Amino acid sequence: MHHQNKRETPGPSGDQQPAFINRISVPFEYPVHFTRGVTKVDNRLLVDTLDRLREERRHRAAVYVDSGVADTHPGLVDEIKEYFHRYSDRIELTATPEILPGGEVAKNNWKSVQDVMFAIGNLHLDRQSFVIAVGGGSILDMVGFAASIVHRGLRLVRIPTTTLAQCDSGVGVKNAMNEHRQKNYVGTFAPPFAVLNDYDFLPTLSQQHWIGGVAEAFKVALIKDAEFFEFLCRNAESMASRDAQVMEKVIHRCAILHLEHISTSGDPFEFGSARPLDFGHWAGHKLETLTDYQLGHGQCVAIGIALDAYYAVQRDLISENDLTRILTAMEQCGLPTWIGHLNAWLNTGSQIIQEALQQFREHLGGILNVTLPDGVGRRCEVHDMDTSIIQDGIRFLREPAKGAS
Ligand code: NAD
Repeated sequence: MHHQNKRETPGPSGDQQPAFINRISVPFEYPVHFTRGVTKVDNRLLVDTLDRLREERRHRAAVYVDSGVADTHPGLVDEIKEYFHRYSDRIELTATPEILPGGEVAKNNWKSVQDVMFAIGNLHLDRQSFVIAVGGGSILDMVGFAASIVHRGLRLVRIPTTTLAQCDSGVGVKNAMNEHRQKNYVGTFAPPFAVLNDYDFLPTLSQQHWIGGVAEAFKVALIKDAEFFEFLCRNAESMASRDAQVMEKVIHRCAILHLEHISTSGDPFEFGSARPLDFGHWAGHKLETLTDYQLGHGQCVAIGIALDAYYAVQRDLISENDLTRILTAMEQCGLPTWIGHLNAWLNTGSQIIQEALQQFREHLGGILNVTLPDGVGRRCEVHDMDTSIIQDGIRFLREPAKGAS
């Protein structure tokens, strides 16, 4: 009988037995829904999602809510309780939803992971139970990490509540904590059980976090979808003035582009050295730590995109006109393309730049891979970055008139 797994290859030397090559392939599948009023009793999406495998049991769940969401949606916790009560024949809320401090602070503190881990233990949740995380990318990353390591992984349902989490961080397969003075130093690849994007959470976002997700939309548009880039340019002012319909289109397209990349790139768990969805992130991540996370992830990514777009012009990958359009559109949205911290990247020679590139490389392993646009809507990888061009880019971005010509 043919056995798929057993493929014999010669051992390292003649007198050893050949290695048994153990091939494992595990398909992952999770739905990403776009909805409204996900915790309203007349919306059956959540209960149907928990029951989507049609198992003969009542599904047990613990719910964690971002404090920023709980504060701005004061009825939410009661609504969740009512929801579970209404569908109590199929789902069980094992404890009152717990409110956790939202924002990057959630990822900076191991105690938050331990608290979630121990709470899951005290509730006796098992691998087939659910952890439901409601919040921004930071809470989703932290709770998702805890859920992925208890019993080696519980079922995670993400309910992202920021533009950035709905269009990027909440729909993917990663979670993380900051450690060792590095962004996302610790984490796991753990595809969620499901993602429920509820647009009704968005109106309460601060302007910074409303627009933050748009940086990720520019990122993915510039390397994958020229038409989407045109849409973003045309609608920059509408996004800034909180046009919900436009924002929902942006989130939907951006999420789909991320999902398509994860499922079709052939490297969902990033075993290789390339990480195209991190265009603009080598500098962005460094700026997040240098600003002590005071500037949002999206804002830091916008500056990183501006810097790498300048670099791409110098390498004849995009035109000066493309660069002007990128900077103008991001500025019209209210996204920054400069921050004073970058001055230090000039003053200390290239030390900070080298460190940022080195940390970015080390996070993936292998050789340095920086993704740049190769014409708007396409991408390429470069393996070394010329520090003097990066520094020219910083000087260029410092000029107030750079984009608005
Ligand atoms: P965030 O999670 O830090 O939240 C920002 C602020 O908004 C917090 O104060 C939070 O309490 C509040 N908030 C959340 N939802 C709200 C709502 N509906 N109304 C009012 N306030 C609300 O910000 P973010 O931009 O969503 O996430 C950023 C994080 O996501 C970063 O840590 C970043 O590294 C991570 N990320 C992860 C991935 C991934 O693949 N796992 C990808 C991209 C980014």
